[in-house]
Amino acid sequence: MEIIHVSAECYPVAKAGGLGDVVGALPKYQRAEGHVAKVVMPMYRTKFLFENQFEVVHKGRTHLHNFWFDYTVIKEKTNRLGFDLYLVDILGLLDREKIYGYGDDTERFIAFQIAVLDWINAWQHIPDVIHVHDHHTALIPFMLQHCYAYREKLGGIATVLTIHNAQYQGQTGMDKTVLIPEWDLYKRGLLEWAGALNPLACGIRCAWRVTTVSPTYLEEMRASAAGLEALLEYEKGKCSGILNGIDPVVWDPLTDVYFEDHYSIDTVEEGKQKSKLLLCQRFNLDPRKPLITFIGRLVGEKGADLIPQAIEDSFYYIGRKMNFLILGSGFPSVENRLQAMRDLSRGDYNTFIGYDEGLSHLIYAGADFILMPSRVEPCGLNQLYALRYGTVPVVRNTGGLHDTVIDFGDKNGYGIRFNHATVGDMTHGIWRSVELYNQPQKLYEIRQRMMALDFSWQASVRAYLDLYERMRKGE
Ligand code: ADP
Repeated sequence: MEIIHVSAECYPVAKAGGLGDVVGALPKYQRAEGHVAKVVMPMYRTKFLFENQFEVVHKGRTHLHNFWFDYTVIKEKTNRLGFDLYLVDILGLLDREKIYGYGDDTERFIAFQIAVLDWINAWQHIPDVIHVHDHHTALIPFMLQHCYAYREKLGGIATVLTIHNAQYQGQTGMDKTVLIPEWDLYKRGLLEWAGALNPLACGIRCAWRVTTVSPTYLEEMRASAAGLEALLEYEKGKCSGILNGIDPVVWDPLTDVYFEDHYSIDTVEEGKQKSKLLLCQRFNLDPRKPLITFIGRLVGEKGADLIPQAIEDSFYYIGRKMNFLILGSGFPSVENRLQAMRDLSRGDYNTFIGYDEGLSHLIYAGADFILMPSRVEPCGLNQLYALRYGTVPVVRNTGGLHDTVIDFGDKNGYGIRFNHATVGDMTHGIWRSVELYNQPQKLYEIRQRMMALDFSWQASVRAYLDLYERMRKGE
């Protein structure tokens, strides 16, 4: 089968979160199963672009309403990522350093989708599946079926939309529908949701199949999906939840390229201690105390606003028996409070505001516990990386966290789970972490159990391939 993934992110080319990790890994393992898997994404001006070799494979000219533009498709020459990587360049729209966050993101991503389809339309063959990811590429199923330029040749291609996060839907005014190449006006209702052009809702309606990145998240979305609940209930027959995997090549404490003190399940205690010492030196923390961390976007969805108070309450009620190290960026109010709290540190608290891939790997290795007080967690990758690195996840019982973390108080358990995204529940989770840290034999057993788990892509890749097969057979 030939599968084309169209995405705004793909690690290591450009990554803002879990979407990048998934699109950087899934095609690699689909290829390993003997299929042709390709990734097409915008050509941002990131480091990867300048450090690798590319060749031009196509040049085209098309239009975004009455703005005609030239685009170029380049291909990475050495197959470095384990699959064919294509980057689409549109000068003035995609030639930027950041992935998102510009005032013209709607125009940028619609132009990208148009260029991708214009290019595929020029091929001599037709791919079997187009797999789109999140709202940035979710108009493609509609465009394939209802834009006059593509529907005759490409309208029969099976499409899958994976929702990595339903909180972001790309809503914009219906006036922007003029940007979509001439389409069947009777289909206007497919583009509109709650009075706006809603690319994610349109993708849910038009894609042949819709997947979310964990089974529990799919269930939860029927009750809470930022306004899309009724639509998901209506379309539930074509929706399924497939848990993300992790890339065991990139995320392996024995070979990780971001730190030197490698370890395996047999040497986990010494290995983690070395990385912990490095972190404690760099961030002025006490290596004798448990190191409790957070890595992620500092936004409400991740429960990041609860962190400062939970830390203060922990120091107050439990005592200064632990260290905290927070890595992330997001809401300025949370960033400012986390930074201000540095003044109160007695060698037991620090924060790094920003995005740092290398530091995140070192933290997974050196930390004892990782906090995930998420209000919403479609799958969550941090807990999966933490498990592989022998770091105990302390998580709210929701979405993918529910599907992957069993409390150590339960049979065969290994993590710490709490039910509510509140400061009280989180502080209780921190208290249990400190208690566990003070039982070295128990912590050792839990580390052994965590590191023996397998969350690699194998099972998920099989589930995606089954889904494609069933679509192709018309089931
Ligand atoms: P999201 O909802 O942000 O996609 P995931 O848990 O699915 O959450 O994926 C988060 C990914 O982004 C993980 O690989 C995590 O290590 C990484 N990450 C998040 N914030 C940072 C940061 N500030 N620095 C480095 N890596 C980060």
